[in-house]
Order: sequence, then structure tokens, then C-alpha cells
Amino acid sequence: MANGSEMVAPLAAVSGFLRQQHGVFIDGEWRPGRGAERLDVFDPATGDVITTVVNANAQDVDDAAQSAHRAFENGAWTGLPAAERERRLLKFADLVEQNAEELAQLETLNQGKSINISRFVDVGGAPAYMRYIAGLTTKITGETFDVSIGAIPGARFNASTRREPVGVVAAIAPWNFPLMIGLWKIMPALAAGCTVVLKPSEVTPLTSVRLMDLAKEAGLPAGVLNLVTGDGRTGKALVDHPLVSKITFTGSTATGKAIARSAADRMLRTSLELGGKNPAIFLADAPIEQAVQGAVMGGFFNNGQVCAASSRLFVARSIYEPFTKALAQAVEGMSIGPGLDPAAQINPVASAGHRQKILDHVQRARQDGARILTGGDSPDRPGYYVRPAVVVDAAADFAISRQEVFGPLVTVTPFDSEDEAVRLANDTDMGLAASVWTNDLKKTMDIVPRIKAGTVWVNCHNLVDPNMPFGGFKESGVGRDFGVRSLEAYTEVKSVCIAY
Ligand code: NDP
Repeated sequence: MANGSEMVAPLAAVSGFLRQQHGVFIDGEWRPGRGAERLDVFDPATGDVITTVVNANAQDVDDAAQSAHRAFENGAWTGLPAAERERRLLKFADLVEQNAEELAQLETLNQGKSINISRFVDVGGAPAYMRYIAGLTTKITGETFDVSIGAIPGARFNASTRREPVGVVAAIAPWNFPLMIGLWKIMPALAAGCTVVLKPSEVTPLTSVRLMDLAKEAGLPAGVLNLVTGDGRTGKALVDHPLVSKITFTGSTATGKAIARSAADRMLRTSLELGGKNPAIFLADAPIEQAVQGAVMGGFFNNGQVCAASSRLFVARSIYEPFTKALAQAVEGMSIGPGLDPAAQINPVASAGHRQKILDHVQRARQDGARILTGGDSPDRPGYYVRPAVVVDAAADFAISRQEVFGPLVTVTPFDSEDEAVRLANDTDMGLAASVWTNDLKKTMDIVPRIKAGTVWVNCHNLVDPNMPFGGFKESGVGRDFGVRSLEAYTEVKSVCIAY
């Protein structure tokens, strides 16, 4: 356990926020839910209930969708000059920055993660991302092009495209980076001129609730951004709402597929960022110390609750023994404690249910014949802790090698050739991310194109940037977040052909 370090004391604003009776945010105002049902919100470090939120029912979802639809149709947002929309989104970023410590503490209290991660990644990274996307508001362009239409003799044509906002966007966010991924969904939608209904995970709704007041203060007109808190039923009601034109979702592959099926009935546009079972390949020349540090960072950052986490490590046979020994030692030495303790390297996972899921994965792996070198159990203390685990002898068809665990656990497997490493790395239904660890340029350039994944890092892992597209091959999803083209997914292309 981490000891001797100063626990962060929650700000008065955080304690005050937790005492409030939170509602749903619709038409620019807080309202009580239409029904009486509320959801408990837990502190994963203790298992205590810290506040409650509305479990929004179908009527609440309808109110939110109607509000977003009205705001879209009456031009409350698209009617503003693009530069004015950009200015308000930039102010929204400023307000997130000004309230960063409060947001970071709320994130840690609700999600369980280290305050360092909340401060420097989730909240610390948000303003830069928000400003990048806000800047795209004024850069939405179409094309003009020549055509060869010969139907009307003598007529000439001017042909061009416009990019128009798609309409009401349902943004459904997960519990691993609640604020950050919520912003990845709402910012490009708003920048494109859409209106939004946000549904955070029932496990981690708090920073999304706080975000609504900041959006209002930034000058987002009523109805442009709405929030319904609730469980999977709330999400399903939103997906099925007839006024929704586009769904942007991050979460499990199973829920992503269910959403895609519902969306198909109405030809809804979807962006789906789903799970990963991401490989990291360590070639024989990778320096052991750097390789182990990379494996710890890639596999255990945010307690492994990262869609891009390197949960499958493939290591050249010649370095397999020293690598595995050093990794097990490093992982065993990680201090465990609450997220508010800045010295704790492993923190509770997000929920009691998720902890049980991880423990079940470990038990199944053991039954299947894998060896757990370290961790994989829960320390005897309150809160949703799981000791970080290193698993070896896991055959490629074991559940532990194929299913996303989304916790502090990696499997380590030796390989004898680069061809074998690539084959093992690609032996998955997913394809979100991968990394290759070597200083051999020729081998890097040979391997990178052969990996079937949306991002391949070399000598690093888990690094994202607003300017670098991020998304999955295969069952890891559809579409890409980030990059100068990120608004395209929130627009329709309209061709305009003028005869003159
Ligand atoms: P889900 O995919 O079920 O949840 C993600 C979001 O979708 C939540 O807001 C959830 O609401 C909502 N939701 C659930 N069911 C529906 C539905 N039918 N229609 C619309 N929205 C719905 O993830 P879980 O929380 O159950 O986590 C399960 C696993 O998913 C994890 O163990 C991990 O493997 C993976 N995962 C992957 C993530 C990623 O970043 N790619 C993020 C989170 C999880 P609610 O939470 O209220 O039920």
C-alpha cells in the first residue's frame, strides 16, 4: 500500500457539489427527473455512496431529444456566425481550465483513478483538445469541381459541395475517462453545428453533470447541449429516439453492436469506438528496462481501464525470461491506494461489478491452465481494488487471450520470429491499437504496415493527440476521433449543382 504521502483534501466546491440534488439538464435548465428513480453514485476507494443522480426514464429522454431538436431547427446554434460559435466553445475550454481542480477531484472520487491522471490527462488535457476542435468550427469547407454534364446543350454548371450538420447527436460515454471521452463526443458535434444529448455512464456521471453549468456559462444557447443521467435503459431510449440523427458511442463491443443494429433500422449515422485486445511486440533488441517500463505504462495506466491498453505482450524468446521476471517484480512493487493519494500507482477499479468481472477472468484463466505470476486477487480492504496481475502460459484460444478484461492484467507470450509475432498480434477480433518496441528501423518499417490496428505506436504506447486520428479496425469500431477531419462524421455532404 502507498503510505507516507499526503492525501488530497477535497475542495469545498466538491463537497458542496456532492450534497446537491442533481437533476437532468434540458433546454438550458436543471429539472428533476420525470420519475422518482435515482441511482446511487459510489466512491470506488471506499464503496460508499457519495451522491445520487436521476435514473432518467423515456419521458426525460424525450424531453431532452425534443429540446435538442428545437434548438437545431430554430437555428439557436447554427444561426450564429461560425466565429461566434467558435468563441463560445473556446470560452467553454477556458472554463474547464479554470475549474480544473474541482473537475479532477470529482473524477477521482467518482471513477477511482489517480488524482495525477485526473489532473494531467483527463482534465489537464481537455482544454487543449477543446481548443483544437473549437478552432475547426470556422474551417468547415466544401469543394467546387468541374462536371461534364451534357444533357442541356449550351448550359454551363457550377457544382460544389456543402457540409451541413447532421442534426441531433446522441453522445453515449463510458466510465474509464468520463469527462475526457464525453468531450471527445460533444465537442466535434457542437463544432459541426449539431445539438447534443449526452448520456454518461451510470457509474461515472458526476463530471458530466458539472460540465453542463460550464457550458451554459460559456454561452451555449438553451437546448444545444442536454444531459440525461441513467443506466443502459436510458441509453437505449436515446438510441431509439426518432429525433436522433447520429450516435457517437464509446464502450463495449457488445453494446456497440447492439447500437449498430438499432441504428441500421433508421439508417442512423454512427461513430463507434469499442474495445481492444491490444498487442505490444517486444523485439530482441528492446532494452529490458525500457521495455518493462513501456509494458507497465501500456498495460497498467489507469488500472488497465483503457481501450488501447497493451493487454497482450509478445516478447522475443531471447529476452522472454528476464523481461517476464523484471515485469513481475515491477508490477508487484506498485503501491496500491485510493486515487486521492498521489503516490498510489494502482487505484480501485470503477465499480464493484467490474472488480468481480476481473476476478472472474483471473479464475477462468487459472482453470484454463494459465499461470498467474503475481496479483489477480483483491486486497483485504474496502473499495474495489484488484492487485495488478501478470499472466503467462495463456494459449491463444484461452478466454484471457481473447476477451477484453479492462483491468490491471497483462498476458506475456514468447515468440521465435517477427512473422510469428505479427501473426499472434493480429490473432484477435479487435484492432484498436498496438505497439512495437525496437530500435531496428528496418524491422519497424516491415512490421508496422502488417499490424491490423487503427494506431501503431513505436517505442511508446497509449499516447493520443488531438491532431492524430484514433479509432479501430475490425470489431474495435467504426470511424475516427481527432484530427482535422473529425467534424466530417457530424456532417452530411450536400452536392449543389447550378445551371447557368
Ligand atoms: P457498456 O458498453 O455497456 O457501456 C458504455 C455506455 O453505454 C454506458 O453509458 C452505458 O450506460 C451505455 N449503454 C449500455 N447499454 C446500452 C444500450 N443498450 N444502448 C445504449 N447505451 C447503452 O460498457 P460496460 O460499462 O458494461 O463495460 C463493459 C465492458 O466494456 C468493460 O469491461 C470493457 O471491457 C468495455 N469498455 C470499453 C470501453 C472503451 O473505452 N472502449 C469503455 C468502457 C467499457 P450505463 O453505464 O449506464 O449502463
